[in-house]
Amino acid sequence: MANNVCRMLALLFVIAVLGTGVMAASAKVVTPIIHYLPAAADDTLEDIRLIPAATWQAIPAGESVSFGYTQETYWFHVTVPTAEHDRVLYLGYPLLDSIDIYFVQAEQLLEHVHLGDKLPFHERPIHNKNFMVAIPSHAEHDIYLRVRTESSLRFPLEIWEPVGFMLAYQNQVIIAGLYFGLLACMAIYNLFNFLTTREISFLNYSMYTILIGLLIAGLDGLGYQYVWPNSVWLQDRIVTMIGAAMMLFATLVSTEILQTKAQSPKIHAWLRRFMWLYGITFILSIFISYGTLIPFVLLMAVVGSLYMLSCGIVLWRKGMIYARIYTLALSALLTSICINALGYLGFFESVFIQRYAIMAASALEVLLLSWVLAIRFNDSRKQQLVLQEQLNYHLEDMVAQRTEELEKVMVRLQRANQELEQRSNEDGLTGLYNRRYLNQEFKREFRRCKRNGSILTVMMLDIDHFKALNDRYGHLLGDQVLIELAQLLKRNLQRASDSLYRYGGEEFTVLLPDTDEIGARELAYKLATAVRQHEFDTDQGPLRITISIGVAVAAADVYDQPTQLLAVADEALYRAKAAGRDQIRVITKLEQPAVSPSE
Ligand code: GH3
Ligand code: MG
Ligand code: MG
Repeated sequence: MANNVCRMLALLFVIAVLGTGVMAASAKVVTPIIHYLPAAADDTLEDIRLIPAATWQAIPAGESVSFGYTQETYWFHVTVPTAEHDRVLYLGYPLLDSIDIYFVQAEQLLEHVHLGDKLPFHERPIHNKNFMVAIPSHAEHDIYLRVRTESSLRFPLEIWEPVGFMLAYQNQVIIAGLYFGLLACMAIYNLFNFLTTREISFLNYSMYTILIGLLIAGLDGLGYQYVWPNSVWLQDRIVTMIGAAMMLFATLVSTEILQTKAQSPKIHAWLRRFMWLYGITFILSIFISYGTLIPFVLLMAVVGSLYMLSCGIVLWRKGMIYARIYTLALSALLTSICINALGYLGFFESVFIQRYAIMAASALEVLLLSWVLAIRFNDSRKQQLVLQEQLNYHLEDMVAQRTEELEKVMVRLQRANQELEQRSNEDGLTGLYNRRYLNQEFKREFRRCKRNGSILTVMMLDIDHFKALNDRYGHLLGDQVLIELAQLLKRNLQRASDSLYRYGGEEFTVLLPDTDEIGARELAYKLATAVRQHEFDTDQGPLRITISIGVAVAAADVYDQPTQLLAVADEALYRAKAAGRDQIRVITKLEQPAVSPSE
C-alpha cells in the first residue's frame, strides 16, 4: 500500500512539474511595466490622468502586483504596444472585488469594462476563473485599472494572444482536474469506507477532503466558475466559511487519527477548544465580512495547524506509529500554508508557485492521512478481534465453570428429591412404606396381575386390643410396640416381592403377588405365631400381644379396582376379630363372583 501511495504521489509531481514547464514556455505577448498609485475611493479616471507621471511608481516588467491585505483603492497604468493580432488582458487572481478597466487611445476613452467577484460570474465578458477582457485596439494605447478588494491585493497582469493563452491554460486545467479528481476519489472512497464499516472517522475524513477541495476551488476561482456561479454572497464568504469548517474537520480527524482521547487527555481538551473556536468562527463568517474575519481565520489556521503539528511530534516521540505519518502529512500542508500566507500577506509574489504548492501539499496530505486512517482502522479491528477472542475464551471458561456448578447443584437437587420422595413414601414412626405408597404400588401390582392373569393376595393385620394397651401403658409405649412389631413382621416375610405397609394406626398391610391361598395361609400363620410368641421389650418390661389377620386371595380378573380387593381383606379381618381375635380368616375369589365379593 505504501508503495502505491508513493507511486501515485510521484506521478502527481511529474505532471505538476511538466505543467509548470509548459506554462512557462508558452509565449505571452507582454508582461508590461506596471505603474501604480493609491488613490481616494471616489477618484475618477479624469482625476487620475491629471496626476503627474512622476507620482506613479513602477513595478518592473515580469513581476506581479502584490500589496497584501489592504482596504485602499489602487490605480494601475500600463501601455499596450502596437500589435497585429487580437489580444486579451489577463488578471490572474480570482478574489478581486471590483476592477474598472479603461482603454484610452489618443485621449479618447475606447471602452470601460467593470469586473470583479462582486458581480455574478455570468456577467464576465470572458468566462474564466480569473479576470479577462478583450483588448479593443491593435494600436498603441493606455490601460488604466482601478482595483479595490477586501482580499489580498495581488495579481499578475498579462497581455496574451488568445491562442497562446488557451495552450497555456489547458495545462492548468489538466492539473486542476487531476487534483480535484484525486480529492473526489478520496472523498468517495472514504464515504464508502464509512458506509461499509460505520466507522465515523471515515465520514469525518471524507468531509474534510470535500472541504479542502471546496476551499482550494474557492481560492482558485474554479468554485465561483463552476460550483456557486450565481451566489455573490457565497463568493464573498467562501474562504472564511470553508476555511473555518475545514479546520474544524481537520482537528476532528486529528483527534481520531492520533487517538488523543486515550493517548493524552490534555491534548484532546485543547484540540476540542480549537474545534469550538472554529465552529464559532464558521457561524461568525455568515454575518461578518470577509475582510474583517480573514486575518483572524488565517491566524487561527496557522496557530491551530502548528499546535496539531506539535501534537503529532509529541505523540510520535511517545512511540505512536500513526503520529509519524500524520506529522509528515501535516508538515507538508503547513509548509504550503505558510508559503500561501506569506503570499497573501504580500511577502511572496508568485501566485503560480503558491497555487501549485498548496495543491500538491494538500493532495499529499489527503493521501497520507487516508492511508494512516486505513492502517489505524485495520489495527483497531485486529485489536478488537484479539479482545473478542480473549472475551470468548473467558466466556467459555465462565460457562464451563457455571455448568459444573450447576451440575453439582442438580445432583444435590436430585438426591434431595429422591430423599423427599422416599420420605413421602415412608411412615415416620415405623420406617415402613406408608398408605400413600401402598395405593400407588397396589395399583401397579393389580394391573400387572391382570396382564399376567396371575393371583394377587392382600393381607390386613391389626393388633388386638391395642387401645387398651395404649390406655394402660401410654402412647409412647404403644409406639415402641408398633416399631418393634414392624421389624418383626418384616423379618418374617419370605419373598423379596412381598411388601409390608403401615396402613394406618395399628393396622398393617402385606401385598403378596403370585401367592395362592395355601401360601397366604402359611404366611399368615407364621406371622401370627411369631407375634404371639414374641416378647416385646418395652420401658415397662416385657410385653406380649396378638394380632388378627384377614386375607383376600383373588384371581386377577375377579375385581376391577384394587380398592375392592382391599375391602375384601378388611372384611376378612373383621371376621377374624369377630371370631375372638388372634385369628386368621381368608376370603378367596378365584372366579367371577355371582354376588357381591363381601359375601
Ligand atoms: P381391636 O382388637 O378391636 O382391634 O381393638 P383395638 O383397641 O385395637 O381397636 P381400635 O381400632 O378401637 O383402637 C386402635 C387404637 O390404636 C386407637 C389408638 O389409641 C391406637 N393407635 C392408633 N395409632 C397409634 C399410634 O401411632 N401409636 C399408638 N401408641 N397408638 C395408636
Ligand atoms: Mg384397629
Ligand atoms: Mg386393634
